[in-house]
Amino acid sequence: MPDESRTDAELLAYLDEMLPAERSAEVERELRDSPSLRQRASLLARRRDQGGHTIGEIWRRERLSCLSRSQLGSYLLGALDNAQADYVDFHIRTIGCRICAANLQDLQASQQVDGATRQRRRRFFESSAGRLRSR
Ligand SMILES: [Zn+2]
Repeated sequence: MPDESRTDAELLAYLDEMLPAERSAEVERELRDSPSLRQRASLLARRRDQGGHTIGEIWRRERLSCLSRSQLGSYLLGALDNAQADYVDFHIRTIGCRICAANLQDLQASQQVDGATRQRRRRFFESSAGRLRSR
């Protein structure tokens, strides 16, 4: 895939660990394979660290308080302590961070898929076990 397929915003999101796991892995692969993409990414990182001037860059810098995917995952599982869970609530519901909200929704959806698959499997095994017993 040509480097141009990755936008600056996407690379910055990758550097900030804001991409969904799958896309982040994709970008990582491309970075490994492409010296020119690596160069672009390091340039972006340097510019970001020096402090950008565009609204987009400022906005991204202000997102230091954003939550990681693993924090959001723990939140969904109820594995965070109260103070942390409060912060997640505050960040997403009070501040209304759209990125974290989208991440949370994404995680929630994939958990629901996992749950549905597990349930289907369990039903299948239970019914085949039942059939075996009744024979
Ligand atoms: Zn956020």
